[in-house]
Amino acid sequence: MAKLRILTYPDPVLAKKAEPVGEITPEIAQLITDMVQTMYESEGVGLAAPQVGHSLRLITVDETGPKERARPMVILNPVFSDCTGVKESEESCLSLPTFLCTVKRSEFVTVRGTNEKGEAIEIKAEGLLAIILQHEVDHLDGKTLVDHASRLKRTMYASKVKKWLKD
Ligand SMILES: [Zn+2]
Repeated sequence: MAKLRILTYPDPVLAKKAEPVGEITPEIAQLITDMVQTMYESEGVGLAAPQVGHSLRLITVDETGPKERARPMVILNPVFSDCTGVKESEESCLSLPTFLCTVKRSEFVTVRGTNEKGEAIEIKAEGLLAIILQHEVDHLDGKTLVDHASRLKRTMYASKVKKWLKD
């Protein structure tokens, strides 16, 4: 197992639409294991493959967080159906240090995909889990919290990051 490096804004991989995962090769299985570990060690509740440099439709989620690690979940090729309700949530992202943004999310979602064994799964989620799932699937479509923010907020963050990169 290895902790992977998490890419941060404005890395171009984060802005790319990710490709579907085909067969679960040994490399993909290893990537899944490493992503779960990386998620926990980074104090995250979710991670998407593009965040670790793989433009693939693969996410890991555990809404119980790195201390409990009670419900690790791996979803390949996740697709939403039945998204209902509206909920505002304040979110942060491992790929956007210091950035916080309020986002309008669906309150209830159903996600279909496959798990790490290639079995079809369907997850009905609400609350924090529903929000994490929407946040992670955004990453697969090349979308981050920055894209949910106002133009002003986005410009301010971009110049802040530019300054960090110079220093
Ligand atoms: Zn994120």
